[in-house]
Amino acid sequence: ATMNKIAIVGSGLVGKSWAMLFACSGYDVMLYDVIPDQLQSAQEDIEAQLSALYKEGLQRSSLTLAEVKGHICTTTILEECVTGAIYIQECVPENRDLKRDVWRQIDDVITPDDVVFATSTSAIVPSLLSDHLKKRHRFMVAHPANPPLLNPMVELVPAPWTEPAAVDRARALMEVIGQVPIVLNKEIDGFVQARIQAAIIHVAWQLVSEDYVDVESLETAMSEGLGGWYAFMGPFDVEHINANGFVDSNKKYGAMVEQVQKTFPKPELMQGPAAEKLTRDLEQWTPSNRLADRCRWRDRRMSALLQLKRKL
Ligand code: NAD
Repeated sequence: ATMNKIAIVGSGLVGKSWAMLFACSGYDVMLYDVIPDQLQSAQEDIEAQLSALYKEGLQRSSLTLAEVKGHICTTTILEECVTGAIYIQECVPENRDLKRDVWRQIDDVITPDDVVFATSTSAIVPSLLSDHLKKRHRFMVAHPANPPLLNPMVELVPAPWTEPAAVDRARALMEVIGQVPIVLNKEIDGFVQARIQAAIIHVAWQLVSEDYVDVESLETAMSEGLGGWYAFMGPFDVEHINANGFVDSNKKYGAMVEQVQKTFPKPELMQGPAAEKLTRDLEQWTPSNRLADRCRWRDRRMSALLQLKRKL
């Protein structure tokens, strides 16, 4: 056991990202998966992703590529993965029963009291994943934003029984690896990020499906308008400086905001002819067979913005 070991359970998209983030800061990562072939391809993919970052000088590490790779090893034995780790990040598929079962197995392996149990779940509240655990007082959600290497924010969500000391340890570790943690005071569906995204999608769907605006204009409103603020500040800060402080802004615009909110529709699934038209428009924009290119396009811009923000 070292004070430097991080256990990553599940070596898919998110598990690989966490592995790279920790290894880039010099932690010894042990990556576990049930499928040996998956571990093999995960290592190849990690190597390819790191090579691309280092080639473009976009790595978030003072270590060499070889050093970072040397900090990641793999295993198909869960006990070997978690034993001696100071922090366990579970990244198995988004399935409540599967996650509960994996955590029960980890809980059965004796681990010292200060080990943090963290799940990457996108949407399941932590109480529903940890009520059955002996060590549930150290369990929490650590939800990364995709892609975690380019998106520093991590949501830490405690269950009602999570000890503040465990959250403090997770927060400190996130800061060491260069992520920017936010801590919720209590759990709620969607946490913070997915709730805000759901609200945005809700009104965007109304504007497009009821034909107030075409998709291209809707997307432009975000990328050329709102996005400029939100890359640097949040909605309340925007209001606060938009007038003579929040009270003044609220006095001037509060009723208008409420009036607009009253015209929001009820939640609904995005389907029917409007969804088909939306699909066609998006296909024209980025055909399905070009999605990987579009992802790289996004990642290059996100890298550049992140670097710029760190310099400003
Ligand atoms: P994924 O399907 O890419 O990877 C899951 C991995 O878990 C696979 O390699 C699979 O072989 C492995 N696995 C399956 N059963 C296992 C078990 N019993 N023990 C160990 N490993 C097992 O999924 P992903 O996109 O990496 O998502 C993982 C988690 O992260 C999910 O909870 C997801 O909601 C969450 N998340 C996803 C994103 C995203 O954008 N994809 C972002 C944030 C959080």
